[in-house]
Amino acid sequence: MAAPKVAVVGAGVIGLSTALCIMETCPSCSVTILSEQFSPNTTSDVAAGMLIPHTYPDTPIHVQKQWFKETFTYLFAISNSAEASEAGIHLVSGWQVFRNTPKEELPFWSDVVLGFRPMSKAELQKFPQHQSGQAFTTLKCDCPPYLLWLEKRLKATGIQMYTRKVADLWELHSKYDIIVNCAGIGAHQLVADKKLFPIRGQVLKVHAPWVKNFIRDGDGLTYIYPGIHRITLGGTREKENWSLSPDPGTTKDIFDRCCSLEPSLQGAQDIQVKVGLRPSRQCVRLQREVLSQGGVKLLVVHNYGHGAGGFSVHRGTAKEAACLVGECIAALQGSSSGAKL
Ligand code: FAD
Repeated sequence: MAAPKVAVVGAGVIGLSTALCIMETCPSCSVTILSEQFSPNTTSDVAAGMLIPHTYPDTPIHVQKQWFKETFTYLFAISNSAEASEAGIHLVSGWQVFRNTPKEELPFWSDVVLGFRPMSKAELQKFPQHQSGQAFTTLKCDCPPYLLWLEKRLKATGIQMYTRKVADLWELHSKYDIIVNCAGIGAHQLVADKKLFPIRGQVLKVHAPWVKNFIRDGDGLTYIYPGIHRITLGGTREKENWSLSPDPGTTKDIFDRCCSLEPSLQGAQDIQVKVGLRPSRQCVRLQREVLSQGGVKLLVVHNYGHGAGGFSVHRGTAKEAACLVGECIAALQGSSSGAKL
């Protein structure tokens, strides 16, 4: 059989990392990325890129932990290499603080991040409105640099990338053997997934180089995440809101909330406002599917629906998607009929 032709739809953090994992596990494949948008115009470019997992209610915790661990280990190695600054990957220490102490004692990811511990009384003095907190060190991906670094690595492997909106996966049938759907919120229309919905997030990217520690309110709504050049201040979680227009009232509200956690942000400069739609589902759709039309088959691997935690688990889910592509290739090779399955 000739080298299998794989099309990856989508060029956010999920599409790019999935394409990279496919090339790593199946170097003989010919992989093409087709995407309506590339960096800096994806949801992934808006994200803070912090490695603090979001919980998917319908995915077993041990699976989520494995995805997070794979991602943390992969990015930790990059942060510890000469590539770190170009890839935009760095360690960041800080605090998650709670107005009311949570019932859950330890989050499932507490032994994956570094140095997780309860905050001391002295540390809590910085947050007079909060009762308790957790201190730890995690990793952060600066976006777009991380996306551009992934693109550069992909180009070095010979991958082709084209700007193209795919209206129907069947459009790709004549040219590709396997389609990998990494369309993020675009999958709502592309594969008519009614279980997928947007959770709108508005953030501010500001210049305040003196703020070095992250601060996250335990409700997940207000956060301060320092990157290499800019700090992300958040945020909002607006279910089923499809608007990509920044809301000035929300901008002021986010700024005020962040200043109440870190008063020195009053001096922040060059405030830019960004909006993104988190591709949300009860669980990530990580699945093989065989579509059929008039007796013709199309092999599809889905990898979308990462909601508020795509960066935190991207490498883990990309590796799993690459395994599913490997299974599709085995099925194609095992097909004696010469048909597309
Ligand atoms: P996207 O980045 O949206 O990429 C989808 C790609 O598919 C795009 O290139 C798009 O053009 C393409 N596409 C869509 N439809 C089609 C089509 N029909 N044809 C061709 N191409 C198509 N996660 C974390 O882990 N940590 C964080 O700190 C964090 N902060 C966030 C802050 C905000 C404000 C937001 C909005 C999200 C945040 N997230 C965070 C979540 C994270 O951004 C997402 O989970 C992640 O970006 C999803 O990546 P994706 O590649 O699936 O989607």
